[in-house]
Amino acid sequence: MLDTQLEMTDKIGYLLLKKGIIDTKILEQALKIKDADQLKQKRNLAQILVDEFGYEHDIIFREVAVLYAFKELNIHPEELSEERINEIKNLMNRQGKDVSKMLIEHKVIPFKFDDRIRDKLILAATDPTDRSLAKIAYTLNAKKYEINYLRKKDYDKLISVLVSSENEYLKMIEEAGEEMHVVEEEAGINEEELDAEINKSALINLIEASLVEGVRKGVSDIHVIPKSGNKTEIHFRLDGKLQLWHIQENTMPEAIMAVVKDRSKGLDRFERERAQDGFIQREIDGHIIRFRVSVLPTVGTELKNKFESVVIRILDDRKVIKDLGKLGLTGYANKAFVKAISQPQGMIILTGPTGSGKSTTLVAALYQVINPTKNVLTVEDPVEYVIEGARQLKIGYKMNFEQAIRSILRHDPDIVLVGEMRDKETAETAIKLANTGHLTFSTLHTNDAPSAVARLYKMGVEPFLIAYAINIIVAQRLIRKVCENCKKKVVNLEEHIANAGLNLQDWTGHEIYDAAGCDKCNHTGYKGRMAIHEALYFTREIRRIIVRSGEEVDEEAIREQARKDGTVSLRDSGFEKVKAGLTSIQEVIGATMED
Ligand SMILES: [Zn+2]
Repeated sequence: MLDTQLEMTDKIGYLLLKKGIIDTKILEQALKIKDADQLKQKRNLAQILVDEFGYEHDIIFREVAVLYAFKELNIHPEELSEERINEIKNLMNRQGKDVSKMLIEHKVIPFKFDDRIRDKLILAATDPTDRSLAKIAYTLNAKKYEINYLRKKDYDKLISVLVSSENEYLKMIEEAGEEMHVVEEEAGINEEELDAEINKSALINLIEASLVEGVRKGVSDIHVIPKSGNKTEIHFRLDGKLQLWHIQENTMPEAIMAVVKDRSKGLDRFERERAQDGFIQREIDGHIIRFRVSVLPTVGTELKNKFESVVIRILDDRKVIKDLGKLGLTGYANKAFVKAISQPQGMIILTGPTGSGKSTTLVAALYQVINPTKNVLTVEDPVEYVIEGARQLKIGYKMNFEQAIRSILRHDPDIVLVGEMRDKETAETAIKLANTGHLTFSTLHTNDAPSAVARLYKMGVEPFLIAYAINIIVAQRLIRKVCENCKKKVVNLEEHIANAGLNLQDWTGHEIYDAAGCDKCNHTGYKGRMAIHEALYFTREIRRIIVRSGEEVDEEAIREQARKDGTVSLRDSGFEKVKAGLTSIQEVIGATMED
């Protein structure tokens, strides 16, 4: 495209290209999306680059602000006085909850009324080109308004001061203070007395507070664990590890369990001997968050107790990754994966233990192939995330997983996600789908990719079916990143490598880091997680080895061929991250230990 033509049709694109922030290839792709977007969302190029291409918000929007002459609001959120904070809070909340929700959704802060011009509101927006700003100003009753650009990193700081200090439930718990002694000294459970206790709203606040805090801290699960001596512990699972969040003392654990059950759908409060699954939905910080509640009876130390353990899984759709580029697939694994999902049919299998992020990767892959001309069906039990553009079958009392699997073939699908291949029947159905013109996604619980082939074989699936139905098997693990704030450089490389039992030769010349510990990472030395992968792409040679399987699948031969094809093992994929300074050798070894 000619420069002048581009300057006329897309000023933002022209500017970003001139500045070298994007290249022509990205520009062309983004312009295509913009064209396709015209009917629906009408996003501009800056919004598309951030949403779809993962460009850093502030790098793009700072240029946009300059281009359209929006003033940049330079503030240090941590230096604002309490009075100012309260003024802003007041501006945010005075039109009611729906309006404050809308502000959070659009990342806009009504910063203040202009000092010189009365009735003129300064709107601090992270995206000054957001089409809703006029409407927002109108809803805030501002007769005049001026849009200022606020850097997203400053917005994030400011909003955390404005919003997170208001876990209203935590506040209520603090206020309740001493009154929170909910104890029943006598033996046995008296339903009436329990009822009275439940009405003590403190416990309700405690459970609601744990939901809000859990979501805000980004934890994956909330564990409510009964202890003897009228104690209950609440733990959060953060970055894969459990951390104690709260100990509730002087309260019968049964009372807390009863509150959880009362506040969940599908749980029977009076049932204490059976496994139960329930569901909670809440609106937190302007987003609908779903919670899956699992209740299991456990053995207590005191005979009078009927203990149950509760685990609440947080299903926050904001965590869904729609962009493959953000999964951390690199090199051969990335190329092979993209190739595998670009084919019109065949299976894509993710393997790894529970909690290795398999469904996150599958959902991201699914988002790459979903389009309105395709019938996308998913059979998952339970459904983890709502996937736009897919029909997700509802597994429940009336239709179980196996029945759903049998029915999808007759429901004219193009693309199918089978949550898990549990047995021969589900595996055969998934493979049949893949062999009859459907792109099929699924998971298996195995350590690595070659052993997934052996698992299918042992389930009783014919080798030629396995060989020709599968496009790729990807093994995945999540490993912790070293905390950027406190990671320490390994000084005695030789000794460090020898202690880990590795070959020094592979490591000389690399700067590597080890975990330390500081306030920012809870003294664990790690903060956040990332995925590592091993991709087994089904080349002709791999297929040949599988078809030739006799009594058993020759995993070693598959492994050897895969290495020749360019596959990097899980451990080596982790070591690449060590060499990039992102994690430690110990973490990689621990995460890739064979069970
Ligand atoms: Zn740290």
